[in-house]
Amino acid sequence: MDFKEKFEISVLCPICHKEHSVYVEKDDYYRWLRGTHVQNAFSYLNASEREILISGTCSECWDNMFKEVV
Ligand SMILES: [Zn+2]
Repeated sequence: MDFKEKFEISVLCPICHKEHSVYVEKDDYYRWLRGTHVQNAFSYLNASEREILISGTCSECWDNMFKEVV
């Protein structure tokens, strides 16, 4: 078992209105709130999880947006 406390961040995607949860360590979450860049605070998250934290947009909607551009 991981002894570090996990923290669930729920974000509602503004495009599809689905809720997405990202699990981070509590200490990292507070570091992020204090201004640490997402990539440095949550090095273990994948790109789509980071995007949810930054913009609230889920990977499905990102893919759709790129399809519209191309
Ligand atoms: Zn979405």
